[in-house]
Amino acid sequence: MNCIMCGTKLEKMKSEPYHYTDCGLSKVYLNGITIHQCPNQECGEEELVIPNIEKLHEVIATGVATQKNKLLPEEIRFLRKHLGFSGADFARKMGVSPETVTRWEKGKVNMKEAVERLLRVLILSNAGPFRDYDNLESFATIERKTPVRREFKISRQNWLPIAA
Ligand SMILES: [Zn+2]
Repeated sequence: MNCIMCGTKLEKMKSEPYHYTDCGLSKVYLNGITIHQCPNQECGEEELVIPNIEKLHEVIATGVATQKNKLLPEEIRFLRKHLGFSGADFARKMGVSPETVTRWEKGKVNMKEAVERLLRVLILSNAGPFRDYDNLESFATIERKTPVRREFKISRQNWLPIAA
């Protein structure tokens, strides 16, 4: 397999886990996938195939939605996009102005607890058989300035979280 950018023969990349920044979260890491990298120093193109990406995003979203830490701006943005909402759609659904959504996602204004819990419930009720809302009152109770590291592995086409 050759590089689509420069034509150099690609090499298998050994380093795992793969830092999956394309999802919009800064600390998501994947195990069990094959990544090819262009050995040409001036190119550095990476080619990877992420199987069952819908399931992966569902697992990531579930992890974010069930954390006790308050959502960080990048996490709010990730969950909003996961639900398929534009900024304007999301503002309408949550009953706030589009400017408020922008401020949440830039970290200028904190989401109110009730709004944050509603967002999480939207994610969790969307993510399958989640009927356990017992932990709802523990969501968004902890202040944290940096994202939690999230690591995942693929096993028989199924994405699973790796406990930190
Ligand atoms: Zn290349």
